[in-house]
Amino acid sequence: MKQILLCSLLLASQITNAQSQMDQPGYYRIQLGEYELTALSDGTVPIHLHDILTNVSHQEIDSLTTLSYQTPTEEASVNAYLLKLNGKNILIDAGAAELYGPTLGHLPESLRKTGITPEQIDAILVTHIHTDHTGGLMLNGKMVFPNATIYISQPEVDFWMNEKNKTPRLARWFKEAADKVGPYLKAGKVKTFEYGDEVFPGITALDAHGHTPGHTFYALESKGAKMLFIGDMVHAASVQLPDPAVTINFDVDEKTAAIQRIKTFKDAAAKGYWLAADHISFPGIGHVRAQGKGYNWIPINYSTLGNGQ
Ligand SMILES: [Zn+2]
Repeated sequence: MKQILLCSLLLASQITNAQSQMDQPGYYRIQLGEYELTALSDGTVPIHLHDILTNVSHQEIDSLTTLSYQTPTEEASVNAYLLKLNGKNILIDAGAAELYGPTLGHLPESLRKTGITPEQIDAILVTHIHTDHTGGLMLNGKMVFPNATIYISQPEVDFWMNEKNKTPRLARWFKEAADKVGPYLKAGKVKTFEYGDEVFPGITALDAHGHTPGHTFYALESKGAKMLFIGDMVHAASVQLPDPAVTINFDVDEKTAAIQRIKTFKDAAAKGYWLAADHISFPGIGHVRAQGKGYNWIPINYSTLGNGQ
């Protein structure tokens, strides 16, 4: 059970109680070049870092979380991102729906608060096929986004849709892939791409394999603005920013995942572009700055003008 995030859930009663007291707005909007970008919250979920982080001691986890005024039981955000351009509504990732308990699955509700219904989503760019990124595609046996084309990298589809790749450790995700992505595949609604393809104007799909075999980053460049959507490159910001070599036990390939993280932080810090991360504290948008052997996270400035700077 160790590799299953679900094992890190706190008692449901505690969560329900906390959530009922803390309903949050769930979206944050900025302009990014020609695109209007809205970060959407699917919710938050407590994760026990001692149980899931790898290539790190409990002592290091304790000292790094303390430095961030956190504890080894962190509350991780699950974020998705809506991009609007020329009347098209493009979502990056789709949340968890019912798969991780009562504190997640709020993406459709967050979306509605922005004035868009799930039926109005034209495309979903998937970073990878995992519970909290593609779980939200289906709910109660129905497509949540019936009018959307789902974009997924060819290697990601090839891996998760081939039972020959299934091992006991990965079995759960193969079932979820079949349940949540399978119906869209059967309906001809999945469009695969190769790394390097421009999937929408100014949005390029990049090779970020490691966390999963077809994990994808999306680089958005528009009128001089640049943001890189990094999916699951970071799960525990308080630990993996200061020590990017730390991995997580649901990386399919931990070693390559660490290499991708180290390389990407270095590039983002050197070039100063935005990062958007599905599991960094909502809205998960910010910059990184090199510090010591690791990095600092500088979250986006809160703005009612919509520029975040
Ligand atoms: Zn994730």
